[in-house]
Amino acid sequence: MYKCIRCGRPLEKSFGTAEIECECGSRVFIKERPGIEKVILAR
Ligand SMILES: [Zn+2]
Repeated sequence: MYKCIRCGRPLEKSFGTAEIECECGSRVFIKERPGIEKVILAR
């Protein structure tokens, strides 16, 4: 589960070949895991 770092909106799409951009325009996401937060920079 990914979450936008700017607006906190959960991202339904999965990271892969497609370009990902939140509706707010941010391309920085947090990968949510129990106890771990990893920042993901979308290409
Ligand atoms: Zn956003």
